[in-house]
Amino acid sequence: MKIICIGRNYVEHIKELNNAIPAEPVFFLKPDTALLNRNRPFYYPAFSSDIHYELELVLKINKVGRHIQKQFASNYFDEIGLGLDMTARDLQENAKKKSLPWAVAKGFDQSAPIGRFLPKNNFSDSANISFHLELNGKTVQTGNSSLMIYSFEDIISHISNYMTLRTGDLIFTGTPAGVGPVKIGDVLEAYIESEKILKCEIR
Ligand code: MG
Repeated sequence: MKIICIGRNYVEHIKELNNAIPAEPVFFLKPDTALLNRNRPFYYPAFSSDIHYELELVLKINKVGRHIQKQFASNYFDEIGLGLDMTARDLQENAKKKSLPWAVAKGFDQSAPIGRFLPKNNFSDSANISFHLELNGKTVQTGNSSLMIYSFEDIISHISNYMTLRTGDLIFTGTPAGVGPVKIGDVLEAYIESEKILKCEIR
């Protein structure tokens, strides 16, 4: 399976990192070795001193598709969850300056903690799902899928023009504002509406 991540999908987050609003969805990949599930702890890697959390709604692809038209895109996922797009911000800033790829900054081992998934049918409107992240019990990020520049359907359609989507692929749909650093001992807890979906301790 592959993990596809959308960058720059919430206006307020784009502003906080001084980026431009993209004319089409920007995406990058994480390898399957980035996955961290079952609420296992995240071990702070030695190669970075500025690891950031980015909480994102995650779609789980349920069938193979390519060149998916937007009006059919919602048929290609039936579960929604949350994931943390853990980012070595220092390595990413360095890569940006030199116009180098983000593979290391975004794709290192354990850089994709994911929580459990909820059936899409649990939600009356997938374009209006609220979520938030607590760091040591204090809310640091709040988001709602209604605030995304590109909808779930836009994203699936766009990616599938370039890459075949397969069952089990995960799509991280972008982070809202409020990203920030973690340190050893921190506890991250993420919620969809009021339901806790993900817990991750930094060790
Ligand atoms: Mg992200």
